[in-house]
Amino acid sequence: MFNFGYIGTSIAAGIFLIQTLPKKHKAWGRRTSQILVGSYMLFFLGLFGKENMQIEGFFMLLLSGVFAAATMHYVIAKIVGPLVFGRAWCSYTCWTAMILDLLPHKRPENKRIKGLGLIRYIYFFLSLGLVLFIWYVLKKPVEPQSTGELYWLVAGNILYYVLGILLALKLKDNRAFCKYICPIPVLQKITSRFSLLKIKIDPNKCIDCGKCEKVCPMDVNLLAYKNQNQRILATECIWCSTCAYECPENAITSTIGFDMGLKDKLYFRP
Ligand code: SF4
Ligand code: SF4
Ligand code: SF4
Repeated sequence: MFNFGYIGTSIAAGIFLIQTLPKKHKAWGRRTSQILVGSYMLFFLGLFGKENMQIEGFFMLLLSGVFAAATMHYVIAKIVGPLVFGRAWCSYTCWTAMILDLLPHKRPENKRIKGLGLIRYIYFFLSLGLVLFIWYVLKKPVEPQSTGELYWLVAGNILYYVLGILLALKLKDNRAFCKYICPIPVLQKITSRFSLLKIKIDPNKCIDCGKCEKVCPMDVNLLAYKNQNQRILATECIWCSTCAYECPENAITSTIGFDMGLKDKLYFRP
């Protein structure tokens, strides 16, 4: 109950700032929530509670049948929750992105590299395979809330941070790790496709200035969706609202509805 109370209050504080701050400072609402929740989950639930919140920890908990905070976290934030709020986890609460968003390349200098997103699927299945190997072949499961879990969490997070920072600096794109390597979207993208909450451009207000697309950290082709009078159906959208804060015509809002897209409309490098 304390966890839910703290996380709910932190997100509420972020939403309050979004509602009250002037448009050019609204991003602080998201950042506040991200720092309050991300650091709490990493330090209190992870390091202090010795729960491996990395994807391998989730797989290990599923095999062990233990219903711990990490299990609940994955169900709410990454599997079932995205049916309602899409990939909001990635903008409002993730402790990896909490650090990556501090780096200097908030607006990607170049568009996505086609094909590189495959790495996240390889990472996901390698993680699953590793856990299955440890469980069924070595028969040495990592006990829930043990020192082993803690070591795994620390090592995994160091790996994420080092890879994430190096990639962001190399590709001049803070969210490069999210686009190419992080295995979490493999789960999120399945359910966030049907998300009730999605961003929409009002075609009657939009003047096609393209500013929203320039600031989108995930290289979403927003105008392609607008031209088809669709909401932003891309499962790469992390619902950060950066596009909405940049729009000079206030044409972008969050909406509730039922829809889904098949293939994401994104910008790639030639
Ligand atoms: S893609 Fe991964 S690292 Fe990026 S914000 Fe989402 S969960 Fe965090
Ligand atoms: S489309 Fe808008 S809300 Fe979605 S990721 Fe891009 S900037 Fe963020
Ligand atoms: S920033 Fe606003 S007005 Fe400009 S293209 Fe995007 S939605 Fe249209």
